[in-house]
Formats: sequence, C-alpha cells, structure tokens
Amino acid sequence: MRTSYKIVIVGSGAAGLMAAIQASQTEGCALITDGPLGHSNSVMAQGGLQLPQATAESEERFYEDILRSARGEADPRLVQNFVRQVAPTVAALERWGLTLDRDERGQIIRRLAGGLSEPRIVSVRDQIGPAIMKVLLHKVRSCDLELLEHRRVVSIEQVRGGSFRLRLRTPEDVEEELEAKAVVVCTGGISYREALKRRTHTTNPPNGNHVLFDHLEAMGLPMVHRDYFQYQPFGIVRTAVNGVGKAVPESIVNFPVRLLDRYGREIGEVRQDRYALTQLMFTLAREGRTAEDSEGNRGFWLTLADIDPADVARTFPKLHQYLVRERLLGQNVLVFPFLHYYLGGFKISPDCASSIPGLFLAGEITGGLHGRNRLMGNGITDSLVHGRIAGESACAYVK
Ligand SMILES: Cc1cc2nc3c(=O)[nH]c(=O)nc-3n(C[C@H](O)[C@H](O)[C@H](O)COP(=O)(O)OP(=O)(O)OC[C@H]3O[C@@H](n4cnc5c(N)ncnc54)[C@H](O)[C@@H]3O)c2cc1C
Repeated sequence: MRTSYKIVIVGSGAAGLMAAIQASQTEGCALITDGPLGHSNSVMAQGGLQLPQATAESEERFYEDILRSARGEADPRLVQNFVRQVAPTVAALERWGLTLDRDERGQIIRRLAGGLSEPRIVSVRDQIGPAIMKVLLHKVRSCDLELLEHRRVVSIEQVRGGSFRLRLRTPEDVEEELEAKAVVVCTGGISYREALKRRTHTTNPPNGNHVLFDHLEAMGLPMVHRDYFQYQPFGIVRTAVNGVGKAVPESIVNFPVRLLDRYGREIGEVRQDRYALTQLMFTLAREGRTAEDSEGNRGFWLTLADIDPADVARTFPKLHQYLVRERLLGQNVLVFPFLHYYLGGFKISPDCASSIPGLFLAGEITGGLHGRNRLMGNGITDSLVHGRIAGESACAYVK
C-alpha cells in the first residue's frame, strides 16, 4: 500500500466498483473497502434494474414516473441526467459481459412494476445483483488500480493544497493513513443502523455503513431528506432474527396475489407503488386490522396459495427457487413492511460533486434522486449510473 494516490474510491458495491473502473483510467488509483471485495448490499438485489427504450418518449415517461413516485420531492436536474445516462451505463455493462434476459426474437425483456407507466424492469434470470456484481468484479480486477480490502475508512479531512487525508482501520484495530487528490465515497445506505434505532425489522444485513456517514454528517456536508427511508412491503415476519429478516421479492406482484387483513378482507391493490402500499399497511395496522400467526407475529396475509407454481417456475425461475427454498409455495404468508432503503443522503450535483471540491459521492449514500419514494429497480440503477459519473468526474478533477 502506498501513502499517496490520485483518486481513492471507498466502498465496493455497485457504485464503488463502477466508480473504480472509470477512475482507473487515471494512473494512481485505489479502491478501499471494509470487507472482502464486492461484499455489499448490491449483491442482494433481485428485482431488476430500470432501462427505458431508446426513444425520447420512453425517456420522458421514465422521467415523469420518477418525479410522480417521488411525490414532487426529487431534484429534477439529477433525475434528468440520470434518465439520460442509464442506457450508456447498461451498454457498458453489456460490453463487459452482462447478458440481459431476451425473448426469442432477441429483444430485451422489459417488465412492469408498481408506479411504472410502461414495462421497464430488465433482469438476468431475476437475479440482477449477483449478475451485475460478477461482471463488475471481473472488470475491476483487470483494471490498473490497487484494491485494498478489509480496511474501513473512518475519517476524511482536507489538508494543504486541497488534498484529502484518509484514516483507515483494519479488523485488528491497526490504524493507517493515506492521502488522495480526489475521493469518491460509495459507502451505501444506513437502513440497518436506522432499523436498530426504530426497533423495527429490516432487509439490510448488519454493516458498518453508518461510520463514514456519521463522520461526513458531523463535517457539515449538506444533506437532503435526512430522515426519508423506504420500506419493502413484503417482509416475512417469521424470518426476522435480531431485527434482520427476508422479504418476498416484489416481482411476486407479476402474479395474482392479494393482501388480506385479519378478517380475510383484501386491503388494497398490491401493485401500487411502495410508498402508497406501505403507508396503507401502517394505517391499517394502527386500526387493528393486522392478522396474527400461531407464534404471535402480526402482519397481513400475502396469498401465495393463489399462484400457480409452474407459472412462476417458467417466468421467474429464481423467484421460484427462492419460494421453494423458503417453503413458501402453496401457502399464505404473513408479511409486514421491513425497512429497506435510505432515500435521503448527501446532496450531490449531476456530476456527483459534493460541496467540497474533490470530494465526490455516489449510490445509496446520496439523496435527491428518489424524493419520497424510490421506484423498484432504481436502487441498483442509481448506484451504477452515479458510480460511473463519479469516477469520470474524479478523473476530470485530478487532470
Ligand atoms: C435485500 C435487498 C434487495 C434489494 N433488491 C434490489 C432490487 O431488486 N433492485 C434495486 O434496484 N435495488 C435493490 N436493493 C437496493 C440496492 O441493492 C442498493 O441500493 C444498491 O445496490 C446500493 O449500492 P451502493 O454501491 O450504493 O452501496 P452497497 O452496495 O451497500 O455498498 C457499500 C459498500 O461500501 C462498503 N463500506 C461501507 N462503509 C465503508 C467504510 N467506512 N470504509 C470502507 N468501505 C465501506 C461496504 O462494505 C460495501 O462494499 C436491494 C437491497 C437489499 C438489501
């Protein structure tokens, strides 16, 4: 390990790997991550990513869908740039070996999801996270940059001449220091820590993403929507251990499932967007309409008994495997919203610059793109697109 780099990227989820691949065009880059390379929430994404058709009308609909879903609270400049950059970002992934699902005519298969005005969800055998991460890991290992694993960045401060000093800690509690001209922070969301605070269940595994987040917040880096978090509606209540549990993937809404209350009454349309559906579930819970299972867990019944397993196996093979593995097929399962995604975060401009020159951010640690509600698939898409932009911006900055 050297003590001075031109660009340092922190984090190795979709945003960090994408940023590192772009930044490695500049000599003297390093990627630092607190676990093994690629260990991240990104690898857990299942549902898919959003890819509009290559027409101005389709991009316009994508833009409108995001603003509507955000309840008017997204940053229109960020959204506009994001929408334009999705296609070139996905094209780069395809060049590096990502094979999106296609129909017999060779056309990319696009599916609908809650809040979408046209089919836009694309996938790789409904396991988008692992497929993308495999491609990114392969690519980053072929790039000219240093990969520093098992080191957590605990602080970043600006020093003489505008460079940055980073303090790192190893699992053995050894402290290290290095300097960089530009830093790209891609350390993910803070839903795990927030779930502990709220004493609620989450889909996010334990992580230390909050460490650098807290440091940057204490530095006074401007934020947007500080307290906006998103819930996934189909958390399987009986799976929660120490607050962390599994959720039925939202691709389940492609099948004729319903949500029932304690009286067996349907509570509403399951295909509405996440914010509307989870707000409805919280309201009905307050009104005492949750059902209870034999272990005393409370939630609403998701009618998996209504769906044809052969249909799921044919169209969503990974979802089918998951339902079989979790022994969910053929029965109704008790679900309740689990904390899932951090909507808020640090403020960035469309080129991923923060308020400090030379400090760039990308992915779930940033806010402003999703406003009040993120569309399904726009989590990993956000990280990929902005990771790529942040890497390019850092290169331009150090030139
Ligand atoms: C169960 C689950 C399912 C999901 N499904 C979908 C889906 O279907 N579609 C979708 O669009 N989105 C989905 N998401 C959300 C999506 O996966 C994430 O929003 C996105 O991938 C975040 O990418 P990221 O690179 O910003 O952060 P992460 O992937 O969280 O990566 C953060 C990285 O930073 C590292 N790190 C953190 N702090 C430090 C530090 N101080 N020093 C060094 N390294 C550090 C971490 O170890 C990690 O490598 C899902 C999330 C979960 C949890």
